[in-house]
Amino acid sequence: MYRIIADFHTHTRYSHGKGSIEDNVLAARRKGLEKIAITGHGFRHIRIGIKPNDVDKMREEVQRLNDKYSDIEILLGIESNLIGLDGTIDIPDEYIDKFDIILMGFHKGAMPKSFNDAIKLYGSNLVYNILPVDREKIRMQNTQAMIRAIEKYPIKIITHPGAKIDIDTKLLAKHAAKRDVALEINASHGFMTVEYVRIALKEGAKFVINSDAHHPSRVGDFKRAIEIALAADLNPDRIINARIAKQT
Ligand SMILES: [Zn+2]
Ligand SMILES: [Zn+2]
Repeated sequence: MYRIIADFHTHTRYSHGKGSIEDNVLAARRKGLEKIAITGHGFRHIRIGIKPNDVDKMREEVQRLNDKYSDIEILLGIESNLIGLDGTIDIPDEYIDKFDIILMGFHKGAMPKSFNDAIKLYGSNLVYNILPVDREKIRMQNTQAMIRAIEKYPIKIITHPGAKIDIDTKLLAKHAAKRDVALEINASHGFMTVEYVRIALKEGAKFVINSDAHHPSRVGDFKRAIEIALAADLNPDRIINARIAKQT
């Protein structure tokens, strides 16, 4: 057996979560976690993205809490949005170094980089299930955009791959493995699915199990993701935040 020792994907009131940074930290400590990342939505997430002006304030708070609690490491992260077919994410270059960990995902509520991206990346995914579009082409476009993003930025985790947009799991997993980027098994969304995990596993990908908590009470709640990992026979040495429990 193994246990998950870190939650790298949690939201606070700085995006649209319900608690403060300290509320999430306290919840993580109660669950016995050794690490937590505070990851608000990217800057261009409409209404719920964190504000660039808040980043320094968040950093000060994270610093204060790291000094206050010696039994847990707190990281300042961000769940950035993929906003362009060229792999652009919604974090300007000058902000990249301000974060300890960068996650990237696709969300329909983000402002695309350009009109072309609005049509091709966002528009086509909006009508994907409604209109008779070239689904294979859209799927490849989505996948290539994600691959370009992990080639461009120091992204550590792709959040909920396959949720919200269709991707070629095999191809994304292959490139993620090459770049040492972990694919998230998200306990809130139930993505990756068992099937996706099995496909990605064969490509040598690494995984991360996260809560994606939007409320402090959900921090460290990995139940649904662990069920997926177990069903896919995922070995803990392939999960970056798992530790094998000692036999007693
Ligand atoms: Zn997300
Ligand atoms: Zn999230």
